[in-house]
Amino acid sequence: MKADLRVCSAWRNRHERPVYTLSASCPECGADAVNSAPAPFDPEDSYGEYRRSLKRRARE
Ligand SMILES: [Zn+2]
Repeated sequence: MKADLRVCSAWRNRHERPVYTLSASCPECGADAVNSAPAPFDPEDSYGEYRRSLKRRARE
């Protein structure tokens, strides 16, 4: 069973912490709520890790 948990896309600007909701928009500010499962910065993070491991290999 998979809950479609979403998080306010503008929470960093409008709230002090992520606002989670099951609807398509933030219940507090009305901004779009985005799916929280694939975090927007996850791909970048793994790329960063990939780059870091490349750098490490280049130095060794
Ligand atoms: Zn919000």
